[in-house]
Amino acid sequence: MNVDVIVVGAGPTGLMLAAELGLAGVRAVVVERLAQRGGQSKALGIQPRSAEALALRGLLEPLMDRAIQRVPGGHFAGLRLDYTAWDTRHPYSIGIPQGRVEALLEDRLGELGVQVLRGHEVTALSQDADAVEATLLGPAGEARLTARFLVGCDGGRSTVRELLGVGFPGLDGKLLSVVADITIADPDGAVPETWTLPVMTPDKTGKGYIAPIGDGVHRFLFYGAEQQRLSRDTPITEEEVQRALHNEFGPGVRLTGVRWASRFTDASRQVERYRHGRVLLAGDAAHIHSPMGGQGLNLGLQDAFNLGWKLAGEVAGWAPEGLLDTYHSERHPVGARVLANTRAQAVLIVHDEENLALRDIVEELVRVPEANRIVAGMISGLDVRYDLPGRRHDLLGRRVPDLDLVTPSGPGRVAELLRDGRALLLTTADESAFAEAAEPWSARVGRAHVQAELGADAVLVRPDGHVCWAGSVADVSGLTEALTLWAGAPTPADLPA
Ligand SMILES: Cc1cc2nc3c(=O)[nH]c(=O)nc-3n(C[C@H](O)[C@H](O)[C@H](O)COP(=O)(O)OP(=O)(O)OC[C@H]3O[C@@H](n4cnc5c(N)ncnc54)[C@H](O)[C@@H]3O)c2cc1C
Repeated sequence: MNVDVIVVGAGPTGLMLAAELGLAGVRAVVVERLAQRGGQSKALGIQPRSAEALALRGLLEPLMDRAIQRVPGGHFAGLRLDYTAWDTRHPYSIGIPQGRVEALLEDRLGELGVQVLRGHEVTALSQDADAVEATLLGPAGEARLTARFLVGCDGGRSTVRELLGVGFPGLDGKLLSVVADITIADPDGAVPETWTLPVMTPDKTGKGYIAPIGDGVHRFLFYGAEQQRLSRDTPITEEEVQRALHNEFGPGVRLTGVRWASRFTDASRQVERYRHGRVLLAGDAAHIHSPMGGQGLNLGLQDAFNLGWKLAGEVAGWAPEGLLDTYHSERHPVGARVLANTRAQAVLIVHDEENLALRDIVEELVRVPEANRIVAGMISGLDVRYDLPGRRHDLLGRRVPDLDLVTPSGPGRVAELLRDGRALLLTTADESAFAEAAEPWSARVGRAHVQAELGADAVLVRPDGHVCWAGSVADVSGLTEALTLWAGAPTPADLPA
């Protein structure tokens, strides 16, 4: 066995997954086809739930240092959403090009000693009961790499998915859009100089979205009537981009250069199963959809965050039966919900009288606070609640709130206590009873007795920040069950001397 886990693809999903594996001490390698990262960034934004996940590992601050702007709220088909309806420290979208997110994560891998094998493409794979073998094609020719698991994070056209012979059912795209990174001359100041959320109010010409993405470059995304008459492989000319700029901002705005441009559709597809024996799929390799609302990169990061610690448990040998399968059962419904909401958004931005009538009604509805909360929770990822077993508690399956608390060593925050990537037992009362119950798991489950309003005497938090048990000392047997379910059987090495 050369390594424990092969991660295919150094996009945001693969890099995040490798960082989680590296943190847990797993021998992982990332295999990436490109010799170096491409200059373009597809995604431009980080949603609140991803910000929370990054904060759990101390990665949010360095990411904010590289961000361009923080924009309050989010949007649904260009309709504004107020994220403050949710209890979060991050009720905003972070404007940051995807390339900078990837660079940050790759730096993190360097610190953790996880190698990114660039210029190597996975071309074949096989698996048996014990191992998976990948064939890599690199500058020195073909090589084979063996591991216990392989995760295909290799994007929407995933080779891993193809090699598995797995279908990718869903809908073909209906709306054809253009994304272009451009430079402009804007003497009249018609183009916003700061990063704003998209205003995608459809009209006869078709509206788009523009944002400054650093180094004097603007990201321009448009999907007018003209684009709908073209095919996906029609070359994008400067004239087409210029016409779209005029339609949107008037004749004063002049295109001075196109750095990169591409057509994309709102096709939406999802694999039926995320796990195929020793091979798993994550990120765009498992699901694709329209970029509407800015969710794809975020969904991939959160897939990786859900999968990393479970895979690490399998590799280390402590994972209880079925733990790895919860990756599919938890993340597939989340992906399906994003597909559904992007399909709905695609309808709401189509230039047609009936759809515009529907849009007017939805616009009115999302101004109602409770409706805003529902849609904001969906787009931001803050509403994700896993269907976990155990005694019902309001917190069960939800993200743990990042509360201020007082620890024996001083004030702190919940997120700071999860940085080592282990599960965490937070207690606010009956410390010794909970400590006694959890002691046999102390190698895998951190403990902190804190002063805070948790809504329970104790809360067990998984490494991905989701609550898997909450209760009082009367239910300490429930805690033991939850520890066994999520942290495995106590091993002799974990037992107190
Ligand atoms: C125009 C546009 C705008 C978008 N805006 C947003 C946004 O604002 N917010 C958001 O959240 N999402 C957005 N997205 C979606 C987002 O870009 C994707 O969801 C995200 O890139 C998925 O990340 P990934 O790591 O799963 O896959 P990818 O980023 O596609 O990475 C896959 C990697 O695998 C490598 N690879 C492929 N095949 C092989 C192989 N055989 N061997 C080795 N390596 C291989 C590729 O070279 C690539 O580096 C947007 C997408 C588009 C098109």
